[in-house]
Amino acid sequence: MSAHAPGGPDDRTTIVEPLIFDKSRPGHRAAAIEAPGVQTASATELLSGTALRQRPPTLPELAEPEVVRHYTRLSHMNHAVDLGFYPLGSCTMKYNPKVNDELASLPGFTRLHPYQAEEDVQGTLELMWELEQALLAVTGMCRASLQPAAGAHGELVGILMVRAYHRDHGGADRDTVIVPDSAHGTNLATANMAGYRVVELPSSDRGLVDLTTLAEALSERTAAVMLTNPNTLGLFEDDILEITRLAHEAGALVYYDGANLNAIMGKARPGDMGMDVVHMNLHKTFSTPHGGGGPGAGPVAVCARLEPYLPTPLVAQRVTPDPGADEPGGARFHLVYDHPSSIGRVRGFYGNVGVLVRAYAYMVRLGGNGLLRASEDAVLNANYLRVRLRDAYDVPYDRMCMHEFVASASRQKHTAGVTARDIAKRLLDFGIHSPTVYFPLNVPEAIMIEPTETESRDTLDSFVDAMLQIDHETRHEPTIVLEAPHVTPVRRPDETLAAREPVLRWRPQAVRLQAVHTAERT
Ligand SMILES: *Cc1c(COP(=O)(O)O)cnc(C)c1O
Repeated sequence: MSAHAPGGPDDRTTIVEPLIFDKSRPGHRAAAIEAPGVQTASATELLSGTALRQRPPTLPELAEPEVVRHYTRLSHMNHAVDLGFYPLGSCTMKYNPKVNDELASLPGFTRLHPYQAEEDVQGTLELMWELEQALLAVTGMCRASLQPAAGAHGELVGILMVRAYHRDHGGADRDTVIVPDSAHGTNLATANMAGYRVVELPSSDRGLVDLTTLAEALSERTAAVMLTNPNTLGLFEDDILEITRLAHEAGALVYYDGANLNAIMGKARPGDMGMDVVHMNLHKTFSTPHGGGGPGAGPVAVCARLEPYLPTPLVAQRVTPDPGADEPGGARFHLVYDHPSSIGRVRGFYGNVGVLVRAYAYMVRLGGNGLLRASEDAVLNANYLRVRLRDAYDVPYDRMCMHEFVASASRQKHTAGVTARDIAKRLLDFGIHSPTVYFPLNVPEAIMIEPTETESRDTLDSFVDAMLQIDHETRHEPTIVLEAPHVTPVRRPDETLAAREPVLRWRPQAVRLQAVHTAERT
């Protein structure tokens, strides 16, 4: 479908797959099932007048194979980790093993209803309980909630617990959260959303928290220090124990953003570093799909003093199984709604259980040693790329990194006006998703690269080849890079327009075509 000559002059506005509405032909059907002898009640008989629409909906009319082919073709126009390398820094876009999906699709999970009685869902509760234990083993914390539906949601839950804790311990006027400038953007947003004043802590010239600056920032007004560790430069905080000690001395709690725990799992535990609360992203570290804003899970684990504040329901194990239940051995697991100091409910029902099943499958399959090995490979892969790219690209903090590192396109910009954005676009021509660009903010023209542990040496080498070729083009033929991508179905849409005035609805005829062409403006 996308027969573009690379760099061909007019393919800028070509969208090669028409909308399904344009493919529609009156009278085309997937199937027409006649049910002889069965009397079907008409809609008018079943529904009252007000619930009935006045006109039939405008639905496309197509045969089933056309529908399947349409969506399959569309799915090929996007990038996916199942199609190519996806080194999106801070997002841990690693391969998600298919066995996770298979297990999560077992009817014993998919056919449950959230209102089913506890004794009917013992298997799921047991899985949730075991997953919690596994996450506690990895983090060294005391208790966890699996409820939050995303990393940022886990952060919010964590900070709400911090606030509840201070309220109960004479710290109600602690109104400030300290966030290093190397933190993930959601940390600041979370603190802000929870009503805190945010103090941004400038990093040292080594890209780390500076203890003197931190000590000066801490006060009796500090509720928490929120740390992303390894930070967004991919660097582990050398003084982590000192950081928690200083914060605790000032009466503050310490939040550990463990979204990308694949840098440290099996090696170091936030609990041992003195952390009070930590969230982790199952849709990163524990290989569950990111789902394009769809269901994720950001469990949040706490130390003993925050345990009373965890959201409900919590999964608990009965010491004496309930003899009434027909499970062999009785109902051993139950949900706790009565947790007196709890911050309350944060999510409907049990959380995103399908995601929890996948993460559990991943952890059980790898086991402790496998998780440790995953961390080692993630760190090895990132360092391999850092060392292989550092002659062509600036690497401002060029020392041993964790699961990711930050390069910069400053040199390319200076030489030929080629920016991080242009390089990101050009990589698409190689079938590679862009790294994270322009983040973190403390590196100009940042290109934040996270290969993840699931990629082979061959894949890493082909990425290096692409990056080196782009650097070469920058010096000899910069227009190739400046006008990239050349082979994607959509080239350079106007990103601002696409975000500000997204065209999300089908409307008949000309209005829509116009919108598509406008969005394609370079
Ligand atoms: C991805 C990420 C988050 C946010 O997680 P979401 O699930 O996208 O809300 C927070 N912190 C870090 C370090 C991350 O990488």
